[in-house]
Amino acid sequence: MEATSKNLTSYLKKYFGFDQFKGQQHEIITSLLNKEDVFVLMPTGGGKSLCYQLPALMSDGVAIIVSPLIALMKNQVDAIRGISENDGIAHVLNSSLNKSETKTVMTDIKNGITKMLYVAPESLTKEEYIDFFKSVEISFFAIDEAHCISEWGHDFRPEYRNLKAIINKIGDAPIIALTATATPKVQEDIQKTLGMQTAKVFKDSFNRTNLFYEVRPKVNQDKEIVKFIKQNEGKSGVIYCLSRKKVEEFSQLLQVNGINAIPYHAGLDAKTRSKHQDMFLMEDASVVVATIAFGMGIDKPDVRFVIHYDMPKSLESYYQETGRAGRDGGEGHCVAFYDYKDIEKLEKFLASKPVAEREVGMQLLSEVVAYAETSMSRRKFLLHYFGEEFDETDGAGAMMDDNMRNPKKMIEAKDDALTALDIILKTSQKLKLNDVVNVLVGKETSVTKSYNLQNEDFFGIGKSKEDYYWKSILRQLIVHSLLEKEIETYGTLKVTKEGKEFISNPTSFKIAEDVDFKKLLMEGG
Ligand code: ADP
Repeated sequence: MEATSKNLTSYLKKYFGFDQFKGQQHEIITSLLNKEDVFVLMPTGGGKSLCYQLPALMSDGVAIIVSPLIALMKNQVDAIRGISENDGIAHVLNSSLNKSETKTVMTDIKNGITKMLYVAPESLTKEEYIDFFKSVEISFFAIDEAHCISEWGHDFRPEYRNLKAIINKIGDAPIIALTATATPKVQEDIQKTLGMQTAKVFKDSFNRTNLFYEVRPKVNQDKEIVKFIKQNEGKSGVIYCLSRKKVEEFSQLLQVNGINAIPYHAGLDAKTRSKHQDMFLMEDASVVVATIAFGMGIDKPDVRFVIHYDMPKSLESYYQETGRAGRDGGEGHCVAFYDYKDIEKLEKFLASKPVAEREVGMQLLSEVVAYAETSMSRRKFLLHYFGEEFDETDGAGAMMDDNMRNPKKMIEAKDDALTALDIILKTSQKLKLNDVVNVLVGKETSVTKSYNLQNEDFFGIGKSKEDYYWKSILRQLIVHSLLEKEIETYGTLKVTKEGKEFISNPTSFKIAEDVDFKKLLMEGG
């Protein structure tokens, strides 16, 4: 079909009632209709669904939409059916259907009635379905939550790994992959795994300029949160805890303090969950205390704060969870309570996992620690994590975090930066961050011994400073792109082109003095 600008807009109006495309939707849809592979990186709320729903409605044949969450699929199908008189326009195909329901789905597809078929990845792999799909016209494949393909992502699902092989068996329709949370590593992995290296990539900025980011040491957090909520009376918020037990305890504590807090976690029965969700959505000033089970597909525009009682397991999760604040563009205050002990607990939990999963989990956690402990612009840190440059001096939202509002002392660290880079080169760029720190402070470990580093004259060259200082130097070298972490080796540090330029022509390298959270916690009791 010839997709002119004018008729795209008229289809948008006809099916969805919108007058204009949001962000890059128009370009994305045009590319897909031109049979190109497309990769879409857009924050939550950016309008990803429409990027495949509209072209699916406009194309001959059926679009196969792979999505990991059955509940979300059902919501989407219901929404699509709402815009058409024809219930067959969208279907879900999964193991919960009985024989006759499955037959109806297949008949509707054969008759060209169905434009969108939502499938879970494990259903797509069934032989009988593959044969069926070969016999019908497929407009394109949409892979939603595409980061699930990557072991480097925070939500790896092995079933996603086989998708490309199955798609190849079925035919050669174009692919659109969509995700809200892909770091550059994950993006590369997704494109490789789906064989879409030449895809057109559309990336929206991840900068949520109306959100204020803050990290507080986890000391007297119960009192602090009660105080915070009382200061923000009349506003809605979400408090995330890692365990169901903590959700129960803390929501009770809030209730005792006269705050109408609603608990939410996957251990509550379905009826209670949906009741609590409705209470949160309906009431103006409601506070929900929840595990990460809460939030998927919840669209409350006026959430004014998101508090992390515990740090999440990755910055992807952190970004997604804080992203539920201020969706209407208004104020959104994001506070995370950080205690390194919580990280250690999560690390212990990872110890029982298979090696690959453990290594990735540790890597993701180390980024959370770096974020929590940094003294630099938190917005710059987060955006760098998602592969986006940000100018902390005058970028949009630059002053919207604790570190920028109350800057820490800056110190000149040119010589130390050079020392750290020198050690990395001298050890042939085969060490990870903690190992480099150990070499600098002269701490013998199994790794330093295995390379015989304790006999080198540079071993312990930085021992006049503490390990947290060197960690901070290394992290800031990474954030300023003078160093990078190698993907294949799970995080060995490598000097970048910029790093080499810095070595041959050193300029000022000012860093913000990092807060020593361990010390602070000891002082705070
Ligand atoms: P995502 O999947 O990226 O989180 P959604 O597809 O759920 O985002 O869309 C977020 C919201 O934006 C939805 O309420 C949707 O109806 C709305 N939306 C999408 N496209 C447009 C548009 N062109 N104009 C106005 N609203 C839109």
